[in-house]
Amino acid sequence: MKYYNINDPSEKVSLRQAVLKSITRTSDLYMPVYFPLLPSAFYAKLGKMSFCEIALEVSKAMFGSDIPKNTLENIVNKAFTFEIPLRKIRENLYVLELFHGPTMAFKDVGARFMAGLFEYLIKNENREITILVATSGDTGSAVANAFFNRNGIKVVILYPSGRVSEIQEKQLTTMGRNITALEVDGDFDDCQRLAKLAFADTELNNRLNLTSANSINFARLFPQSFYYYYAIAQLNEIKNFVVFSVPSGNFGNLTAGLIARKMGLNINNFVASANSNRAVVDYLTSGNFEPRPTLHTITNAMDVGNPSNFPRIMEIFNKEHHAISSAIRGYWFTDEQTYAAMSELQNNYSYQADPHGAVAYLGIKKYQEENNCTGIFLETAHPAKFPVEVKAATNMQVQIPETLKDLLFATKKSVRMPNDFSVLRKFLNT
Ligand SMILES: *Cc1c(COP(=O)(O)O)cnc(C)c1O
Repeated sequence: MKYYNINDPSEKVSLRQAVLKSITRTSDLYMPVYFPLLPSAFYAKLGKMSFCEIALEVSKAMFGSDIPKNTLENIVNKAFTFEIPLRKIRENLYVLELFHGPTMAFKDVGARFMAGLFEYLIKNENREITILVATSGDTGSAVANAFFNRNGIKVVILYPSGRVSEIQEKQLTTMGRNITALEVDGDFDDCQRLAKLAFADTELNNRLNLTSANSINFARLFPQSFYYYYAIAQLNEIKNFVVFSVPSGNFGNLTAGLIARKMGLNINNFVASANSNRAVVDYLTSGNFEPRPTLHTITNAMDVGNPSNFPRIMEIFNKEHHAISSAIRGYWFTDEQTYAAMSELQNNYSYQADPHGAVAYLGIKKYQEENNCTGIFLETAHPAKFPVEVKAATNMQVQIPETLKDLLFATKKSVRMPNDFSVLRKFLNT
């Protein structure tokens, strides 16, 4: 399989280069030249398959020409050691819990598969690779956890100072060894911009072999498609009109859903559920895409003013606004609405949601006011990552899992950094 530069389709590279470089010379995204359709036999047995079996079949279709089957099997079995249950909320409404991985957010799915793929792709290299990752809270810890202590890999995390929850920050800053946390005086878009500047800096790149583990990297993004199949596999009966509501920031998660649909999965529609960072939601109604400065909300992992996967969504639909807006409905919600949704989920359905999942719930609820469908909303983080917000919304304490409890006693270790590329450059060079 070849991967092309979406801004210059004549530039085609191997999987290896697409993954190890993560973005093109021109700072654009890579896409595979096509998405293979999975055979009908796969869909016929979907309901009986485990998550790992699905992940293996889907990754064989995508990566099978580049990676041996038994390697893919090892990557899958090592990465996916946790549950991804679908729970029923009420008639026609389900929640897919993506937070049972080691860092308790859905980013574990992509990061753990990617780490396995990396290990395979660099095993004959003798240079060290530096993964530079901008995080709005959960990516950094998932990547740090997945790559912790791996030979030949250094991880440098850029996170926005004061914009992540206490537990998120502890997860980012207490690992040590091959993991370094840079605390940036800025917001997530600033972190993302600094990372982009570093990737565009040829000299720095050649010295450090920089790569990204954000969803701009196809190896992080693609594995997130697996759980869309698995959600449908867990529905007890065939449902004809299935809609997923995806709490969106950089739109990697939603793009992965679109990829599953492209490969033949029977998903009718998506709901892009956003907070007040609404650039894509506005595009869906107006046809104009205007990135905005980031607004700070309680759903911090979705505080993205200029979503990095938006160009991939455009590419999947040949930039046709009508096609995009028929497949994706967009809604955005305020923090007040999000708190109210958390309280509603608790009171009406005894379901404790984190703020991000609550935004996804609001999106599907709004969609179902006008459309009959089987709705599935994605719960992307464990509520224990947001105990302050859960308490404020429901007046209830969250049970903090043991793994997170220990973290609260660990000592934060970060390097404070102005929002200034020359300072980052100097730091990386020493
Ligand atoms: C990253 C994240 C999101 C947003 O996902 P995107 O793929 O960036 O759209 C939503 N919820 C949580 C908890 C996250 O960590």
